[in-house]
Amino acid sequence: MKQENCVFCKIINHEIPSAKVYEDENILAFLDISQVTEGHTLVIPKKHCKDIFELDEQTLAQVFQAVKKIAGKMQENLEVDGINLVNNNGKNAGQEVFHYHVHLIPRYGKGDGYLAVWKTNSSKYTPGILQRIAEKINPEMQK
Ligand code: AMP
Ligand code: ZN
Repeated sequence: MKQENCVFCKIINHEIPSAKVYEDENILAFLDISQVTEGHTLVIPKKHCKDIFELDEQTLAQVFQAVKKIAGKMQENLEVDGINLVNNNGKNAGQEVFHYHVHLIPRYGKGDGYLAVWKTNSSKYTPGILQRIAEKINPEMQK
C-alpha cells in the first residue's frame, strides 16, 4: 500500500525516476543515488513497511530472495571483491528513508569508498557478562 510523501513509494509508482536493477510482483531494486561504491543498490518491498519491526516474515523472505539474486548478478557482472549488506532501522541507526530497504554495496578492495568503523570492546566483556546480555535479549535461552 502506498504511503503519501514516501520517496520509495513514489519510485515504485514511477513518480520519481530510478535506475532499476530488478523487479518482480513484490520487490523492486534500483541504484542508490549516493553510489557509495559503483553499483550500490537498494532492495525494497513494494508494500510500504517502515522498518524491520513492521515487516512481516513473508515480505522479509521476498526481500532477501531478491537480495540473493542481485548479489549473484553483481558477482557475475561486476568486478566485485565482496558485498556488504546494510539495513538501518530507526533514526538513531542512521535510517533516513522510512520505507524498509536493504543496501547492497559492492566492494572493490581497499579505498573503494565504503567506510564502516567498528570499535571492538571485547576486552570489557567476560563470558559471564556476555551470557547475561544474551539472556536479556532472549530470556527463553536461559538454562
Ligand atoms: P538509509 O539511510 O538506510 O535510510 O538510506 C536511504 C538511502 O536512500 C540513502 O543512501 C539515499 O542515498 C537513498 N535515496 C534517497 N532518495 C533516493 C532516490 N530518489 N533514488 C535513489 N536513492 C535514494
Ligand atoms: Zn513507502
